[in-house]
Amino acid sequence: MSDCLFCKIAAGEIPSSKVYEDELCYAFYDIAPQAPTHFLVIPKTHIGSVSEIAPENSGVVAHIFEVIAKLAKELNLESYRVVSNIGEQAGQSVFHLHFHVLSGRDMTWPPG
Ligand code: 5GP
Ligand code: ZN
Repeated sequence: MSDCLFCKIAAGEIPSSKVYEDELCYAFYDIAPQAPTHFLVIPKTHIGSVSEIAPENSGVVAHIFEVIAKLAKELNLESYRVVSNIGEQAGQSVFHLHFHVLSGRDMTWPPG
């Protein structure tokens, strides 16, 4: 999608601090971290949010979760939270599917 911030970040058109990249996904540190470790994992193809996941594009989501598990091991994250906000009321501000990976501080449940 030409006007999408995270499409541009995935394409390298807007700089970001890369954690990991492969042919399907891109991981980078959040510009406004909410925990000592806070990165985002996104598909390289445009999907608006979890609500647009369907049989045709769900493979990349399984792949992203494999990548999250791998990165968490590599970064020695013993405990972490994976979050995806869907819609404005839930806190979504960028409408390209992304999974937040947060670690390194105590977290409450339920979230605020
Ligand atoms: P959301 O609010 O949609 O769940 O998450 C979007 C996240 O993207 C936010 O945590 C925000 O800090 C992050 N973000 C927004 N713009 C940029 C940017 O240009 N670069 C990086 N690295 N993160 C961004
Ligand atoms: Zn996009």
